[in-house]
Amino acid sequence: MKTLIVGGGPVGLAAALALKERSIASDITILEAAPRATESFSDRNIALSAASWRFLSKLGVSVDAQQRAPIRQVEITQRGAFGLLTLDAKDVAASELGAATPYPALKSALDRAVNAAHINVLYGAKAESVQHEAQRAVIHLASGEKLAADCVILADGAASDFVPEFKRLERDSGQMAIITRISASKPRAGVAFERFTAGGALALIPRADGEWTVVWARARADAERMLVSAEVAFNEELNAAFGSSMGTLTTTAKLTSYPLIWRFVEPRAGGAIVALGNAAQGLHPVAAQGLNLGLRDAQDLGDAFARQTTNKTIAATLAKFSRSRGVDRVARIGFTGLLAYGFDRGGWLADVPRGLGLTAVQMLPLLRREITRRLAVN
Ligand SMILES: Cc1cc2nc3c(=O)[nH]c(=O)nc-3n(C[C@H](O)[C@H](O)[C@H](O)COP(=O)(O)OP(=O)(O)OC[C@H]3O[C@@H](n4cnc5c(N)ncnc54)[C@H](O)[C@@H]3O)c2cc1C
Repeated sequence: MKTLIVGGGPVGLAAALALKERSIASDITILEAAPRATESFSDRNIALSAASWRFLSKLGVSVDAQQRAPIRQVEITQRGAFGLLTLDAKDVAASELGAATPYPALKSALDRAVNAAHINVLYGAKAESVQHEAQRAVIHLASGEKLAADCVILADGAASDFVPEFKRLERDSGQMAIITRISASKPRAGVAFERFTAGGALALIPRADGEWTVVWARARADAERMLVSAEVAFNEELNAAFGSSMGTLTTTAKLTSYPLIWRFVEPRAGGAIVALGNAAQGLHPVAAQGLNLGLRDAQDLGDAFARQTTNKTIAATLAKFSRSRGVDRVARIGFTGLLAYGFDRGGWLADVPRGLGLTAVQMLPLLRREITRRLAVN
């Protein structure tokens, strides 16, 4: 099967490796719009579940141990009210729930694996349109070149709107994520935090260098105010919102922001074309699920082709793959929505049932273990 992948981000690269590993596609080419020298090197710190790390390792993707910050516990609390839920690797007899790594380290590891697998990557190759011609899908590049394949995988992030039948449902949350880094005077290694503060969820994700990445969702006007506030004032606001469980937090990097827009593409498969990762769905980063979901897309696509019987067409396999991804997709989007908005503070009337909910799950080990297993380990 000749396959073209539009987008050399983490999901496009993982999809190529998954197809190659299963010997599904004999001829795979990745088209990446950016020239090699100017590939974006985002400062984001990506938290991946133990399941995502296992999948990457199976594909031969290995990130240097010094670049991995293991996550053994996730602590979920609400600021200024009772209720604590701790998800712990020990509860599911695992050494870690996952680990975070800088985006450039992950990207380099994927690039190395793609290179070792002799998968062809064309840099500076911007796709401009994708169409069906008979049974094949044809890509027109900005250069004027035309490439045809048996299967086209769209992994171009939020960028494309190539297939009119793939309807994009987009919703601006009205929030921005404030991103920065902090050091803590009493660090708790291996712990990630989700804290529900007045006005938006606050996530602290451990970094391999001993600091934490902060992702703090705020209403747009409030985020804009924070971006121009003095460092001391921001630190005060952050410490007041987070509390003292890690002593004093001090920012160590400039604040940046990211608009929080939800995106859902449905249908995501038609004929010989399928959308994966951010090309199929865009999530709020507070729950750290976006790339986990994209990697699962890549893994399940490989499985769907590996199970394909000889009398089945590529279109039928892609349609089946798309149906099979429904539950995981909706569950993770729902969980992210719950963290992003379900816990938006709304006075004691909302705090009390939320606190009771968190405490109830904390006190029910079977339910807690099941949530932990589903989020991190499976
Ligand atoms: C602040 C922040 C923190 C995050 N933290 C986490 C986290 O902790 N855990 C987690 O799981 N997820 C996290 N995410 C989400 C995660 O970053 C994304 O889900 C992931 O990067 C999506 O990968 P992708 O390959 O689908 O898309 P992208 O990373 O967007 O890659 C798309 C690629 O396609 C290329 N491209 C675009 N258009 C074209 C074209 N026309 N032709 C050819 N190439 C094209 C682009 O140049 C790019 O290289 C976070 C996101 C943000 C914003």
